[in-house]
Amino acid sequence: MSKRLFNFCAGPAALPEAVLQTARDELTDWHGKGLSVMEMSHRSDEFVGIAEQAEQDLRELLNIPSDYKVLFLQGGASQQFAQIPLNLLGEDGRADYIDTGIWSRKAMEEASRYGHVNAAASGKEYDYFAIPGQNEWTLSADAAYVHYTPNETIGGVEFNWIPEVGDKPLVADVSSDILSRPLDVSRFGLLYAGAQKNIGPSGLTVVIVREDLLGKAHSKCPTMLDYSVAAKNGSMYNTPPTFAWYLSGLVFKWLKAQGGLDAMERINDAKQRKLYTAIDASELYSNPINVADRSWMNIPFRLADDRLDKPFLAGAEERGLLNLKGHRSVGGMRASIYNAVPEAAVDALVAYMAEFEKQHG
Ligand SMILES: *Cc1c(COP(=O)(O)O)cnc(C)c1O
Repeated sequence: MSKRLFNFCAGPAALPEAVLQTARDELTDWHGKGLSVMEMSHRSDEFVGIAEQAEQDLRELLNIPSDYKVLFLQGGASQQFAQIPLNLLGEDGRADYIDTGIWSRKAMEEASRYGHVNAAASGKEYDYFAIPGQNEWTLSADAAYVHYTPNETIGGVEFNWIPEVGDKPLVADVSSDILSRPLDVSRFGLLYAGAQKNIGPSGLTVVIVREDLLGKAHSKCPTMLDYSVAAKNGSMYNTPPTFAWYLSGLVFKWLKAQGGLDAMERINDAKQRKLYTAIDASELYSNPINVADRSWMNIPFRLADDRLDKPFLAGAEERGLLNLKGHRSVGGMRASIYNAVPEAAVDALVAYMAEFEKQHG
């Protein structure tokens, strides 16, 4: 007997149960071909069909304009922290970065190995509990691009607006909020996401890049990291992570069946509203983030007395509510409520939180 519990893990994160069941049904014999997707040549008609369908479905979901390439890469978002400057900075160029928390700072540190990083704005003066408004930013005239992190997965702050950066390419790490609601891709030069939060399994990285940004890689950029090489080769310059690509394609199909990103936005809005309302109404739980900048996907919260953390987590696990422990750098709790986490999971969490507060409040 197998059972499915409610999984609030930040990443690798929950996947839709229906997707896992399809993958199980197709695992040993994909569509009557007598072999698993894992055992196919990436150059076979079968796999190329799977790959193209996944791209097509992602394009439809995000309404990606035709002058953008969609790349299916490896190395995670962390590799993009280097790959972006290697492709876009030229020799010793400058880029603007917005510091809103741990992930944006990691991106900045890595980029500074390849060129000049201008910290154009920082949430530091708000203890990273708020996002500095665009009127507080100092963008440089000669920046090759402007980088920001729309959703800080660890801190729990999220932009509910898209920065205005004139004719500079806007680059965004959408690892933890891609596909959570509609996004105007045409406002960006490049979007990137590790798959394991809101797309599919780990091992796959999705990059959506405007075509005019290709072909500018640094002369020492490794071939494998040059976007134009990946684009020219349909993301198959070498062997791609075929199974993760296939499974992500199943997730895209599932999202379309849910009604696409408009429907996901309604569901995710209802989920986040329920959880923040419960936190704000309680005496025991608190979330420090400026209300307008609160993340829909990653909701950190503290208990008034951190000696209650352990019993809270133990009781949660007993009730099948998994992975609520906060990131080690923040402490407390964090509920990651990505697309694949159903509203019933949030209902169960909110009910448990109320029950726990009654006993310990
Ligand atoms: C998880 C995460 C990363 C790191 O992703 P990897 O794929 O593990 O490299 C980077 N940025 C954000 C916003 C994330 O949520």
